[in-house]
Amino acid sequence: MKQILVTGGAGFIGSHLCSRLLKEGNDVICVDNLFTGSKRNIEKLLNNHHFEFLRHDVTKELLVEVDQIYNLACPASPVHYQYNPVKTMKTSVMGAINMLGLAKRVKARILQASTSEIYGNPNVHPQHEEYWGNVNPIGIRSCYDEGKRAAETLFFDYYRQNNVDIKIIRIFNTYGPNMSIDDGRVISNFIVQALKGEDITIYGNGTQTRSFCYVDDLVEGMIRMMNSQDGFTGPVNLGNPCEFTMLELAKKVISLTKSKSNIVYKPLPQDDPVMRKPVIEIAKKKLHWMPKIGLDEGLKKTIDYFETVVRNKEQ
Ligand code: NAD
Ligand code: UDP
Repeated sequence: MKQILVTGGAGFIGSHLCSRLLKEGNDVICVDNLFTGSKRNIEKLLNNHHFEFLRHDVTKELLVEVDQIYNLACPASPVHYQYNPVKTMKTSVMGAINMLGLAKRVKARILQASTSEIYGNPNVHPQHEEYWGNVNPIGIRSCYDEGKRAAETLFFDYYRQNNVDIKIIRIFNTYGPNMSIDDGRVISNFIVQALKGEDITIYGNGTQTRSFCYVDDLVEGMIRMMNSQDGFTGPVNLGNPCEFTMLELAKKVISLTKSKSNIVYKPLPQDDPVMRKPVIEIAKKKLHWMPKIGLDEGLKKTIDYFETVVRNKEQ
């Protein structure tokens, strides 16, 4: 049994990670300021005496005795991370410094939830870990992209300077139950719109691509990375390489929900990446990991979840 800290543990991915770590017999401390996360995501865990929730902001120092730290605290949807961009940057940078300082002090291993966004609007396709990216440093997505890039830099500097035991994963678009209904990300938007019979909003002409990973697959990869040996630091891409256009996704959601929604086109947000698809050869080789759940299967599980959420909201 290990003592494990999960920052951002009440969020979408964090809540799945906490559940899985508890199931494996660990003690879990979940730290979250509930900006985009919610107590509802972890309510089933609150009675478990191996689980502890601390309402805390990672931009402030924290001292807890733990063996491992998963650093996930940071809003992930463009709508939420652009709401208070200065705070987003502080969360990534000061959060990384505080958690790395904690890891150094208590000699914990620390994993950073980095992102495919560090590749920006890529001019290499698909994206492999050696690619340095094409990021606008002064755009509306920069608070997130550059914050996450700075966090990766801090991780490697603490590793080289202080021998902190680091792991970095670059997560590609992930979806599943516990995404927030008003999160603004494409899968939650399309499913909720389809279930309510509202127009499905495609930004731009819908030819931009993303590659979607179901959350259970991602969590498996995260845990494998955290427990990997031989000083393997990453960065390692974690994502599902099956690539879809947003128009294909909209049609799939309409068909799976048997919705009568129409597709409408809205302006494309600034700096929206044109394409995104991970190369996962390093994850396959080093972690013996690859995603197992295809988009149709994952969407069905996610639709089931949102059906309940939408029904409860309507009552
Ligand atoms: P989320 O918004 O559901 O979760 C983020 C959590 O962090 C929330 O619970 C939020 O309340 C918490 N948080 C935000 N600022 C905080 C602060 N200052 N102090 C403490 N807690 C804070 O998003 P998610 O999709 O679960 O993403 C989790 C992590 O994975 C993020 O770091 C994100 O950048 C990364 N990631 C996610 C995706 C994806 O597709 N979901 C892709 C790439 C990277
Ligand atoms: N998108 C869309 N309609 C929506 C929400 C998003 O067409 O209602 C598009 C968005 O412009 C982007 C893609 O879907 O091209 C993925 O957006 P998301 O916010 O989920 O993630 P990210 O852009 O960070 O990959």
